[in-house]
Amino acid sequence: MGGLSTGCYAQLNGYHTEIFEKHTHSGGLAATWKRKDYRIDGGIHFLTGHKPGIAFYKILREIGINPETLVDSSTYGRFLDENSGVIIDITNNANKLYQTLLNYFPDDSLFIEDLIKNAKKLSKYDLSVFGLEKPVELKSKIDDLKEFWALKGILKYFTGKYNRSVDSIAKQLNHEIFGEFLKKIFLPQVPYWFVLMILSLVFSNQLCLLRDGSNEFAKSIERRYLALGGKIHFSSGVKKIIVEKGSAIGVQLENGIIEYADYIISSTDGFHTLFHLLGKEFVDEATLDRYNQADILNPCLIISFGVDQAFPEEPWLTVVVLNEPITVGNQEIHEIVIRIFNYSSYFAPPEKTVVQVLIETEWDFWNELSKDQSLYTSYKQEIAKLILIKLEVYFPGLSRNVQVTDVATPYTFWHFTQSTKGSIMGWAPNVKNMLTQPKKSLPTLTNFYLAGQWSMSVGGVSPSILSGRHVVQLLCTNDSRKFRTR
Ligand SMILES: Cc1cc2nc3c(=O)[nH]c(=O)nc-3n(C[C@H](O)[C@H](O)[C@H](O)COP(=O)(O)OP(=O)(O)OC[C@H]3O[C@@H](n4cnc5c(N)ncnc54)[C@H](O)[C@@H]3O)c2cc1C
Repeated sequence: MGGLSTGCYAQLNGYHTEIFEKHTHSGGLAATWKRKDYRIDGGIHFLTGHKPGIAFYKILREIGINPETLVDSSTYGRFLDENSGVIIDITNNANKLYQTLLNYFPDDSLFIEDLIKNAKKLSKYDLSVFGLEKPVELKSKIDDLKEFWALKGILKYFTGKYNRSVDSIAKQLNHEIFGEFLKKIFLPQVPYWFVLMILSLVFSNQLCLLRDGSNEFAKSIERRYLALGGKIHFSSGVKKIIVEKGSAIGVQLENGIIEYADYIISSTDGFHTLFHLLGKEFVDEATLDRYNQADILNPCLIISFGVDQAFPEEPWLTVVVLNEPITVGNQEIHEIVIRIFNYSSYFAPPEKTVVQVLIETEWDFWNELSKDQSLYTSYKQEIAKLILIKLEVYFPGLSRNVQVTDVATPYTFWHFTQSTKGSIMGWAPNVKNMLTQPKKSLPTLTNFYLAGQWSMSVGGVSPSILSGRHVVQLLCTNDSRKFRTR
C-alpha cells in the first residue's frame, strides 16, 4: 500500500518510478485469496474517508479509489460477554448505545455520559488526516499552530486522562465488564481518545467496509499507478540497497540484477530495510531507539470457513469474551473476533458466506512450528476444528455446511509480506508510539526514504497511504518542485 501510494504521487509529480515487489502480486498485508467458490479476506476490516468533504476522501480519490467500492456501515460491531450474557451493539445510534450501557452498568453512569457526549462532540470534527498533511520534516511551527487552532474546541481530548491507555482507564470503572467492553472497542493499549474517535466515526456514519475486499482495494491503487506510467516488477525481491559515498544509488535484486536510481524508497518491513537491506551503520540514534524499544502489534491467527449458509441478520463483526479460555499454542485465549462477510456478494456465491475467526496470538510459537510442515499443517487443522466447535454455539448446524476451511497464521503473514513477527499493522498503537512521528529519511544517508506502515507512528491503511504522499512531498521539496496531487 505504501509503495503503490508512493508510486502514484511520484508519477503525479513527474518522477519516473519502478516498483520492485517480492511477491507475485501487489497488496502486501491487504490480502485476499481464493478457495474454491470463496474469497478469503485476510486483511482490512474497516476504513474511513468514503464521504465527500472528509480530508481523507480527497486522498483516496487521488490514488484511484472509487468510493462506490466502499460500503457504508452503520454498525461497528457487537460485544458479547459469554459469562454475563452482556451483548452491546455499537451502531450509529449514539442514544441507543447510551441507554444500553446505562442499563448494564448503572454504577458507571457518569463515565458513560461523558463517553457518549465526548464522542458526539468529536464527531463534528474531521480528524481523518489530522497532523498528517505533511511529513514531520516539513512541518513548521506555524503549521502546528494552524492544526491546534483548527481543533481548539477539542484539544483537551488529546491530553490528560484522554491520553491514557484504555487499559488503565478501564481499571477505574465500577463494572469490570464495562472495562472489557471499552478495551475491545479497538485494543487495550490505545489511548482513550482513540476510542472516542472510533465512536465519533461510527456516530457520524464515517465508517466503511470494502465491497471488493482488501486486495481489490490495493489493486485499484495499482491500476492508478500503472495508468500514471509507473512500472511494477513482480517476483523481484530486493536483497540489498546499494550505497556509495553516503548516498543510496540503487538496489540489488535477489536474482543478482542491479538497478540504479536517483532515489531509493523502501516501503517494506522497517526492520528488514534498516538492518538487512541497508545496515545498522546507517541508522541514527532516534531511529535505533524506536526499533529497539517500541512495541509492535501482535500478529493474529485467522481461521476462515466457506459456508453454504446465509447470515443476513448477523453483525459483520462480533467480539466474544469467552467463558472458558481456549488453548492455542502456549497461550490461553480469552477472546475471539467473529467476522461475517455478509455485506457484499464479492466473497461468496449467493446464499453462501465466509465466516472468519480472528485470534490475537504470538509469533514464536507459530514460527517454530512452521519448521515442521506436517506438524504445522495438522495443528492448523486441529485449531480449525476447535474453532468450529465454538462457532456451533452461536450457529448450530454450521459445521455441516462448511465447504472450505482456511487457516492463516502469523507465519503465513510473514511469509507473504516479510512483516516482522507477522505483525498485521506494524507498531503497536499505544500511547508512547502514537506520540512520535518518525522521520522518513536517515541523517547519514542521502537519496533514501522510508515509506509504509513502519515509517509512521502507527500502521494501518491511511497512515501507509499518507506515508507515500509524505515521501513525495520531501522529494519535491528537495528538487524545488511544487507538490502536485493531480
Ligand atoms: C487482518 C488484518 C486486519 C487489518 N485491518 C485493518 C483495518 O481495519 N484498518 C486499517 O487501516 N488497517 C488494517 N490493517 C493493516 C493494514 O492492512 C496495513 O497497515 C497496511 O496494508 C500496510 O501496508 P504497507 O504497504 O505499509 O506494508 P505491507 O502490506 O507489509 O507491504 C510491504 C510490501 O513489501 C513487499 N516486500 C517485502 N520484502 C520485500 C523485498 N525484500 N523486496 C521487495 N518487496 C518486498 C511485500 O511483499 C509487500 O507487498 C489490517 C491488517 C491485517 C493483516
